[in-house]
Amino acid sequence: MLASNVIIIGAGLAGVTLALCLKKQHGISYSIYKLRPSPDECRTHTSPNVLRVLQYVSVYDKIRTQVYNYEEVGMNNASGQQLATFLIGSEKLYHLYSIRVHRKIVQLKLPGEAEEQGIAIHYGMKLIDVNEDNVSGVELIFENGITVAADFVFVVGADGVHSRTRSAVSNTAHKYSGLLGVTSMSRRPTYTNERKGLRELASSGLEYL
Ligand SMILES: Cc1cc2nc3c(=O)[nH]c(=O)nc-3n(C[C@H](O)[C@H](O)[C@H](O)COP(=O)(O)OP(=O)(O)OC[C@H]3O[C@@H](n4cnc5c(N)ncnc54)[C@H](O)[C@@H]3O)c2cc1C
Repeated sequence: MLASNVIIIGAGLAGVTLALCLKKQHGISYSIYKLRPSPDECRTHTSPNVLRVLQYVSVYDKIRTQVYNYEEVGMNNASGQQLATFLIGSEKLYHLYSIRVHRKIVQLKLPGEAEEQGIAIHYGMKLIDVNEDNVSGVELIFENGITVAADFVFVVGADGVHSRTRSAVSNTAHKYSGLLGVTSMSRRPTYTNERKGLRELASSGLEYL
């Protein structure tokens, strides 16, 4: 199998946005190889700087009706007392809100835009190795037995935190830092008494997301 001149491993936010940006700036043709076809089911917060990139690649306008806009985040203690608020987006200051959005909306729209622009995305292709010894170019070896060879090629590893591309071309090991963040979302009623509200919420069977 012969490849186009730039190959991106991974069609997450980074891989597809990169493909769209460079197509827009330089008209370079890409192939993207991606492990899984299906999007995640979780939600994501996206701040104005990221939205500006999504605007640049013509995706933000296609998702903006499906997002929750907000400007401020508050921190409460266990008694419901507000400790602080901070600005996380602002139409007035940054010309954009922050948004909360189902991750799959972005994950489907980005590759959809890429495919509309003629960028090929090959699904079910799990990279297992990169062979740079081949004098005529690079070989990418996939778990399904397919090898992609190219004479002149840039391989971009956008395959996430456990990047196989990175480990195939360098010895850098990554190490768990010991930090863990836990975020959850819940659909909640409007209430004035935070403690009472939380108790009601816990017993209401309302969906925790
Ligand atoms: C629980 C959670 C919540 C988060 N919430 C937020 C948030 O609210 N706001 C925010 O800005 N960021 C958030 N992040 C961080 C954000 O998701 C990442 O920074 C972002 O997804 C990184 O994008 P990426 O394209 O580099 O990698 P990824 O999104 O991980 O994409 C990697 C891609 O590579 C593919 N892939 C992986 N291995 C291979 C392989 N061997 N061969 C081929 N393809 C492969 C995957 O299928 C995927 O398509 C969150 C992360 C997590 C885990």
